[in-house]
Amino acid sequence: MKMAVSVLLLATSALRGAEAPPGPLSDASRRSIETARDAALKGTGAAGLVRSLSDEVGARLAGSAGDRAAVDWAVRKLKEIGLENVHSEKVTVHHWERGEESGEVTAPVVQKLVLTALGNGVGTPTEGLEAEVLRVGSIVDLKALLEKSPEAARGKIVYFGQKMERLRAGKGYGDAVPIRVAGATEAARGGAVGVLIRSVGTNTSRVPHTGVLLYDDKLPKIPAAALSPPDADLLDRLSAGPGPLRVRFRLGCQWKPDEESANVIGEVRGSSRPEEIVLLGAHLDSWDLGTGALDDAAGVGIVSEAARRIAKLPRRPARTLRVVLFANEENGSAGSRGYEEAHKSELSRHVAATELDLGTDPVWQFDTLAGPEAEAAATQLAALLSPLGISRSATGYAGADIDLLRVAGVPLFGLHQDASRYFDYHHTADDTFDKIDPGGLDRCVAATLTFALYAAEVPGGFGRLPEALRKTEK
Ligand SMILES: [Zn+2]
Repeated sequence: MKMAVSVLLLATSALRGAEAPPGPLSDASRRSIETARDAALKGTGAAGLVRSLSDEVGARLAGSAGDRAAVDWAVRKLKEIGLENVHSEKVTVHHWERGEESGEVTAPVVQKLVLTALGNGVGTPTEGLEAEVLRVGSIVDLKALLEKSPEAARGKIVYFGQKMERLRAGKGYGDAVPIRVAGATEAARGGAVGVLIRSVGTNTSRVPHTGVLLYDDKLPKIPAAALSPPDADLLDRLSAGPGPLRVRFRLGCQWKPDEESANVIGEVRGSSRPEEIVLLGAHLDSWDLGTGALDDAAGVGIVSEAARRIAKLPRRPARTLRVVLFANEENGSAGSRGYEEAHKSELSRHVAATELDLGTDPVWQFDTLAGPEAEAAATQLAALLSPLGISRSATGYAGADIDLLRVAGVPLFGLHQDASRYFDYHHTADDTFDKIDPGGLDRCVAATLTFALYAAEVPGGFGRLPEALRKTEK
């Protein structure tokens, strides 16, 4: 009973802290943030952490042996770098395996196709799936066509040719990714037997991009694969005729029984308000084709190194910094759901969260998903980030793993990295350590620790998300 009362008192005082409007930082706090920020620009250990995860563990698709090795690696590493309360929290993950895959054009000519199965997808019969190809651009184009000609896709392989635009912001990906996520569902609705997409990426090499698809349980689950960009170009030309274009492809992917994985957590305990939490997220799993250096060993390296540097500061920040390395971001988000479930009772004391999941290039924009009471804090934070060349944006997106925290009203902060190069390699066999730029990572560490120290030090809080923003797509 006594304990229950003290827990209650703790919760009430924490709530008061988080609800008070942000006050100005003390001069001492500001100076120590600026010093830590500038020191990170001289070189950090982030690239070493990325190299270790990428080279010594490698690919770590949820449910695989690599995934289990990554959990052990993370527990060991977070302890090694001096974080506290390091532990893993079990989550059950789906286990999907790729298997062998191949494809070719069979008419009007014979041409090999370089393709890869979309994650979560079903396989084809061993002899493959062959059908005439119906080329459309986007999901919107397919829906418009089926409106006019409801039988247009029946019995066919629908090929989505939409191209992703290379942009510094992540928007190019957001615009193109529906063909991968929803293409199989929309094609199945029209009676198609299979789906091909132009890879959602910006490379011109003969390397395809995988990534998750989602089926609708009420519709047939049809096999789906992504073509490398030059192979997509070939289908674009051949589909213009003359004569019908036919393709055959074989996908050996399959579902295995569910497996155990884990979120891995480590903290820098706060000095005066340890019950209030600032969350720094990244994801530990990766796709199977590369070694997940950019996606997301880079994010793991950035947030872990930021926390390591903060743990070594002469004076600890007021609030607790919590590094969360999420399981299974790529193929089901079980880690994100598991965290939300396991920490429900303390989500009201999560004062801010961010997530790093966009590779190795520097943060150039930041934004807030928060209520009007956080505005003063965002302005103060902007001043601390601006010497790093970071300006404010208003995209309102922070990260896939922390999105669920919105439901509990946690204010989210986006630290947006330059995405210009990222989608040349994202979800491909080319996502390997040679693409990592240590200098870019150092700048990301500087931005992340600036955010983290500010959020952990600022008097008052960022308030809570307004009801209208407490929705998530998951
Ligand atoms: Zn990622």
